[in-house]
Amino acid sequence: MLSSTLKNSIKSTTLKRAQSTFSTPVTVSLIEGDGIGVEITESVKRIFAKAGAPIIWEDCDVGPIIKNNNTAIPDKAVASIKKNKVALKGPLATPIGKGHRSLNLTLRQTFGLFANLRPAASIQGYDFLYKDIDFVVVRENTEGEYFGVEHQINDDNVVSIKLITSKASEKVIKFAIDQAAKIDRKKVVVVTQETVQPKTDGLFKKTGESLASYNKDIEIEFELLETYIYNSVKDPKKYHDYVVVAPNLYGDIITDLNSGLAVGSLGMTPSANIGTDVSIFEAVHGSAPDIAGKDLANPSAMLFAGCMLLEHVGLGEYSEKIKKAALATIAEGIKTGDLKGKSSNTEYTNAIIAKL
Ligand code: NAD
Repeated sequence: MLSSTLKNSIKSTTLKRAQSTFSTPVTVSLIEGDGIGVEITESVKRIFAKAGAPIIWEDCDVGPIIKNNNTAIPDKAVASIKKNKVALKGPLATPIGKGHRSLNLTLRQTFGLFANLRPAASIQGYDFLYKDIDFVVVRENTEGEYFGVEHQINDDNVVSIKLITSKASEKVIKFAIDQAAKIDRKKVVVVTQETVQPKTDGLFKKTGESLASYNKDIEIEFELLETYIYNSVKDPKKYHDYVVVAPNLYGDIITDLNSGLAVGSLGMTPSANIGTDVSIFEAVHGSAPDIAGKDLANPSAMLFAGCMLLEHVGLGEYSEKIKKAALATIAEGIKTGDLKGKSSNTEYTNAIIAKL
């Protein structure tokens, strides 16, 4: 039996389209990623194969390659993703201090992936700080502080540019409202710190205000970031009725907090990067160099990102089957170290496969 939380979580991640534009079998561009990416990608491929998901993986090597002091995605990978319109991506490490943008940012900007949908729901068999939590957050995905422009004035002074445009703000807030309607949530809360950043965050908020009548069934509210953070720790269930939408950096921080509150591990939290033509699905976490190559990684976040992908391409029945097997495995106590379990990635993956 699925708990009600689990049902909600399945509902929250649903990206069903009225009619899928993808024909079966669906070809998906696959970026294995760095560090634990290699191990968790292998797990996902094995689980999908056993579930009989009609997916053809098209491997994409993305580098890193540097062009004009910027990180570039190889043409072959860009062509594959453009053709297939859908990709599953492992975590990519960001080289530190080399003066170029991260590949993740480059991917988001190359394909105009304007919204990052990040659900975080409690799991049966692993109670963390709270029980029965079900957050759904939409993060603006292309601008804010992650616009990636910093200047060195001198050794002691640096400046960073934060970009907010009404166009990107409108797209992401509309997406949050549409998502709320899809998963039967009645409210959207727009989170900013417009008291401190009246121009940038002020524009994001103003854009939200201008969308008050975009969908008459969904109410739009506004909260300061500091208030939201306080409320989400004090009374997280308050946000069960909401889809939360925020500029890039705040959305990133809020969703890591949510992973901690609801689940207790980044290893469980998936995300969808949604664009007009292309969508890329990935885990929220990074390449975890501290545990890479040790068979300790939890593949669930990437697996659940794969499940969001299945829902996106109209193969929701396989998604439910896989999620059910994974969550039942955890409920039985077969879980990786990040969930205080003793199982390796391979043992956890094999246990899921045995249920399919
Ligand atoms: P991280 O998410 O890789 O790791 C943070 C902590 O969580 C580590 O202790 C790690 O062991 C643990 N962890 C993460 N995923 C796990 C999993 N699946 N199972 C078990 N434990 C897990 O964050 P970081 O160490 O700050 O970043 C490492 C690299 O990843 C950096 O280069 C960073 O830029 C990059 N990164 C990439 C993405 C992405 O590709 N979307 C996201 C975040 C960070």
